[in-house]
Order: sequence, then C-alpha cells, then structure tokens
Amino acid sequence: MKKNIRIVLINTSHPGNIGAVARAMKVMHLSSLYLVEPKSFPCAEATARASGADDVLASAVVCKSLPEALAGCRLVIGTSARSRSIAWPLLTPRECAEKLTGESAHGDVALVFGREHSGMTNEELECCHELVNIPSNPEYSSLNLAAAVQILAYELMLAQGATQPEAEVRELATADEMESFYTHLETTLTELQFLDANHPRKLMRRLRRLFNRAEPDKTEMNILRGILSAAQGRKLKQK
Ligand code: SAH
Repeated sequence: MKKNIRIVLINTSHPGNIGAVARAMKVMHLSSLYLVEPKSFPCAEATARASGADDVLASAVVCKSLPEALAGCRLVIGTSARSRSIAWPLLTPRECAEKLTGESAHGDVALVFGREHSGMTNEELECCHELVNIPSNPEYSSLNLAAAVQILAYELMLAQGATQPEAEVRELATADEMESFYTHLETTLTELQFLDANHPRKLMRRLRRLFNRAEPDKTEMNILRGILSAAQGRKLKQK
C-alpha cells in the first residue's frame, strides 16, 4: 500500500461515490483518502459501495478545507474535466502518475478531485502545482468521479511497477542451443516421416519462425528436446 499518495475529494455530494472511490483505490494499492467537507460521511451507502474496502473508508481523514487536506504535501496535482480559460500546464494521466510516484519517494503528494457537478473552483486550482486531464470525448468529457479516480490510480500502480526492479530474468536459450534444437527437430521429423527430405517444402523455415517467435528459455528448450528424444525412442521401439 502506497501511504504517501493522498487521494483528496472535495465536497463530494453522493456518499456512494466515496465508497466507489475507496474501492477504486484499494484495488490499485492506494490507501490514503482525504475528504474535504463531504456532504454525508460516514454513510451506509458509502460502505455498501466500497464492497470490502471499508478499511480505506475507516482511515479516511475528514478535513474542513483543501489547504488542511494538503498540509505537508510537496506536490499537488489537480484534475480537470475540461480545458480552462486560463491555460494551465496539463499533464496526461501517465505523466501525472510518473511525477507523483517520483516525488512520493521523498514525502507526501496529493491528487485532488472536484465536485460531481462543478469540479474544482479557481481558488482550489490555485492550490495545485499542475493539472491532469483524462483524454475523452470533447463533446462529453466528464467522467464519473470514481471512474476518474480508477483511471489515475491504475496509472499510479503502473508507474510504481516501472520503478521496481524486474521480478525474474529469463535465461533464454542461446543461438547455438537453438541450432542444435533445429537439427534435432529436423532429424526427428524425418525419422517420423513427417518431413520428406526430397520434398521439404518450407516446413523447417516455418517451424524456425514459430520457435524463434516464442523466445524459449533454457528450461523450455530442455522440455522440447526431451519430447523429441521420447518421440525418437518410440519410433525405434516400433521398428
Ligand atoms: N462538471 C464538472 C465535472 C465534474 S466530474 C467540471 O466540468 O469540472 C467530477 C470530477 O471527476 C472532476 O472534478 C474531476 O476530479 C474528475 N474528472 C471527471 N472527468 C475527468 C477528466 N476527463 N479528466 C480528469 N478528471 C476528471
């Protein structure tokens, strides 16, 4: 759970949306929810919509003002469903996630969401360093609050994965191991009379393309060689 990335919701009217946001956060490893003057909280409807993310709701911090929710944050990014009259630097969801993730390594950061009907006020936007917009249909650009949280939280999860070392390095079969395999494969297919040396058509070339595309690792290569040897053994017994 990423504790130092805050999701801040301003004046949410529908408690169901708060619950849906808690759920959207938890599935993406986020847990810090800040609520600025929610209309109704705690509320049974929020708990119902959280479906299991009650812990995120239980630890939610209720604040009287946006500055209170942002106290201690080194980077604040606001969300905008539309282009504004004053040009703000607009980030894409991916850029936003990368910035927040990078800064969260050094302290608290916040991603701020507006009201269902009217978004964020100019005064609230002025509390933000930058704004993020989720690209959408220009004729109908406003997502449901929890849907917007879901998309940006997903990008945050991806950005965190990108900064972690790769889980497992696959030991791929080397070029010479692949060549020995192809020789073994060709011999076996000939013994099985699947491949006719006088009319090879393009079989070996097609099989090479297939196995090269799979980029087999050493263990997989051993399995394939084992299968070929087993097939050769059967053929010998039949003779
Ligand atoms: N009518 C409002 C839209 C509010 S939608 C307006 O024009 O601002 C509720 C909240 O969901 C927004 O304040 C924002 O936080 C988020 N949201 C909805 N659509 C979004 C989008 N396309 N990009 C970024 N955030 C969005």
